[in-house]
Amino acid sequence: MLRKFRKKIRTFNLKVKQIAFGQTASNFECVICKRPVAGWRPYRSEGGPSPFIRRLATVGSNAERFACEGCHSNDRERHLMLFFNKLDLWKGLEGKAILHFAPERHIADAIMTAQPANYVRGDLFPANESIQKINIEAIPYPDAAFDLVICNHILEHVSNVEAALAEVRRVLKVGGRFICQTPYSSKLSRTFEEPALQDTDDRLFFYGQNDHVRLFGTDIEARLHAAGFAGRLVPHDEILPQIDPVRWGVNEREPFFDFVRI
Ligand SMILES: [Zn+2]
Repeated sequence: MLRKFRKKIRTFNLKVKQIAFGQTASNFECVICKRPVAGWRPYRSEGGPSPFIRRLATVGSNAERFACEGCHSNDRERHLMLFFNKLDLWKGLEGKAILHFAPERHIADAIMTAQPANYVRGDLFPANESIQKINIEAIPYPDAAFDLVICNHILEHVSNVEAALAEVRRVLKVGGRFICQTPYSSKLSRTFEEPALQDTDDRLFFYGQNDHVRLFGTDIEARLHAAGFAGRLVPHDEILPQIDPVRWGVNEREPFFDFVRI
């Protein structure tokens, strides 16, 4: 009887410890923390997405599955990590030259671990000294300098998309890969871009963020083809059919923008 009671106490103590250290069974798992997590912290912008953005079923972050409590990654970075892992892109980076705009922290760490020969991190507004000040519309590198360019959530900000794409194409080697996630509306056949909409409130309402200057439509793919890239928007289910988007905290509507310089 006493032994049974002691055993119960031990089991109870173990459970308390597991809960305290977050080791209890969870419905959520972070690909970056590499362990179960308590859940996803939602993204709360003032008033949420505008009726215009909602009506156009704009594909971007999933606001309900946004930040990981453990590593503070957002859903887009976790999704990218899952795409890279599944496609085993890390292995091919050893000895390669990579240009990474607005580098996501955990993706950048994983790239460093893959031992590229040259890894340039660039941003128009560098957050620290490891990042060079680079304008994507005038990249200060010679032709065919890179094997891979990563440019996520940039194209909706730049003033001239065609100039940016021409520059990326110029600095990529033939056959070099171009990964360029960007928000877009699957209901717009043409990109919505109105130069008269300069007001930050207008941009928030029509483009989804006050520093976006356009909302891409499904023509994004054709625009990339016209700029000299082959490739497509690869659906989540095609690459990650086993990944439950709720469990892993990603947006299953967000495709992988996978292109190659031709
Ligand atoms: Zn995490």
